[in-house]
Amino acid sequence: MVDLKGQYEGIKEQVNTSIAEVLDSSAFINGPHVHSFQKELEDYLGVKHVIPCANGTDALQICMMGLGLEPGDEVITADFTFAATVEVIALLNLTPVLVDVEPDTFNIDPKAIEKAITPKTKAIVPVHLFGQCANMDAIMELAEKHNLFVIEDNAQAIGATHTFQNGKKQKAGTIGHVASTSFFPSKNLGCYGDGGAIFTNDDDLAHTIRGIVNHGMYTRYHHDVVGVNSRLDSIQAGVLRAKLPNLDSYNKKRREAAKKYSKAFEGQPNIVVPKILQEGPEGHVFHQYTLCILNEKRDNLVQHLNDNGVPCGVYYPIPLHLQKAYTDERYDEADFPVTNQLIKEVISLPMHTELDDEQIEFITNLIIDFINN
Ligand SMILES: *Cc1c(COP(=O)(O)O)cnc(C)c1O
Repeated sequence: MVDLKGQYEGIKEQVNTSIAEVLDSSAFINGPHVHSFQKELEDYLGVKHVIPCANGTDALQICMMGLGLEPGDEVITADFTFAATVEVIALLNLTPVLVDVEPDTFNIDPKAIEKAITPKTKAIVPVHLFGQCANMDAIMELAEKHNLFVIEDNAQAIGATHTFQNGKKQKAGTIGHVASTSFFPSKNLGCYGDGGAIFTNDDDLAHTIRGIVNHGMYTRYHHDVVGVNSRLDSIQAGVLRAKLPNLDSYNKKRREAAKKYSKAFEGQPNIVVPKILQEGPEGHVFHQYTLCILNEKRDNLVQHLNDNGVPCGVYYPIPLHLQKAYTDERYDEADFPVTNQLIKEVISLPMHTELDDEQIEFITNLIIDFINN
């Protein structure tokens, strides 16, 4: 699905130098690379505060802790996403409220959010799924109207840009009150281990969160709030510093590969290619390239691709509201028509910065032949 070795070849010198520097300095935690990476990412995103942490799941949890969400508060998020999003809501004893997504973008449906808002609702967590921003015009409007926090789960869309209806452009993760991201190796900006970060333009919230990631300390050995231990280590920061200057070109390569895939599938009645809402640079950064297969052959296609040595993924095979850990009597199947359909149709193809034309042609021919037979 990804080719991290091929990508490493292109940045080997910088990565090796950075890692050697960390080894020489022995500043494994909170070394100079961590601070420099934080500043460089703030500049890239155009956001006031980046707070690095240990992984994307911690980042989400810390966002919710920082906002002071309390047991009983309802947090609305998408039914069709990775489990981390709902997991941290449940871990903090908040009440997850899962809602349906849009059929063409796979992103949380603002109409479903609106329907789910109650007096107990405190926050919305849009996930910018597969590399494209959720409908942030509608979500920010709802949040303002109902006085809710917006926490963007930006694990899959770093480097993407949202263009508002009024023409204003903002990078994914800088639009809501606070955002989380993951630097898991296969993400668009991935390190060589675990890593994550929180973004915000709110000075007070940034201060609160800087304490939370460090055991609730604002002054050494004074623990003012209950915190966690969540750090990005210096080696990972060094790797990320080597990759960040290439992020836009990496995302461009992903977009170009997606374009070639979609072109090859043109005119195929049983294959729906991903919808790009905002064309142009960085509208969609294709963390995943995800098709819908309409003729009930999805599962057989997965098998066929595996048999032919082509990796593929089904993201996601089970709606969160039906997962044992998160299912609840409150949920009504009639409220999830889109997710319930998507889980049967979606398939994600190899997507990375090193895909070449020959590989794309091989994969698309294999799929087209199979679907039409
Ligand atoms: C990867 C991912 C996470 C979690 O990130 P980790 O660094 O693996 O903890 C959270 N949300 C989404 C949508 C993700 O894709």
